[in-house]
Amino acid sequence: MRLLTLEMEGFKSFAQKTKIDFQAGMNGIIGPNGSGKSNIIEAIRWVMGEQSAKTLRGDKMADVIFNGSTERAPLNRAQVKMTLDNSDHYLPSEYTEITVTRRLYRNGDSEYLINDQAVRLKDIVELFIDSGVGRESFSVISQGQVAAIFNGKPTDRRSVIENVAGVTKYKQNKQAAEKKLATTNDNLNRVNDIISEIQ
Ligand code: ATP
Repeated sequence: MRLLTLEMEGFKSFAQKTKIDFQAGMNGIIGPNGSGKSNIIEAIRWVMGEQSAKTLRGDKMADVIFNGSTERAPLNRAQVKMTLDNSDHYLPSEYTEITVTRRLYRNGDSEYLINDQAVRLKDIVELFIDSGVGRESFSVISQGQVAAIFNGKPTDRRSVIENVAGVTKYKQNKQAAEKKLATTNDNLNRVNDIISEIQ
């Protein structure tokens, strides 16, 4: 699997459509302070399903939408498209090339697509969950994150290790199962109430 292209439009400082072609091997992004290097990394995080505005250095998710400059009015939509070469089927998909798209509108609507087909956030998360590159992995490390890990609470460090060891997926499945179980128990109690009312 390899990152082929990243296309941003209306995302943070990238008001107009900007496409980056990544080459095989190591790629470097250079530019003056404030030119948008970190925004590119955040676009990668975001398109993989990042849900924390704080992680993207904002207060609310709409802060990722281009908010205007002296030359340009604010935009109503942020869009990021990331294309990956999946010819080795490293990601669990039959496609040899995968394009993941995320859109966010100012009214709060959002869209996720895999190869131009509308999907749920859950599908995007599941696509990346065991790959080591997902939104909660440590393949994308932003400034300050290393220090945050070392200075963090033991429980936070444990969650880092669990993530790297691939335990997170099972924890999420367990949580989902526990939620279903609780709902089923509630339904059962309700049925029992109705039965005793009838008797
Ligand atoms: P440094 O080298 O200092 O870390 P950088 O190249 O990583 O800088 P970024 O932090 O990616 O730069 O970009 C910061 C710029 O992005 C700032 O000028 C900021 O105003 C702009 N920016 C962030 N969010 C938005 C937004 N929603 N709309 C317009 N511009 C934005």
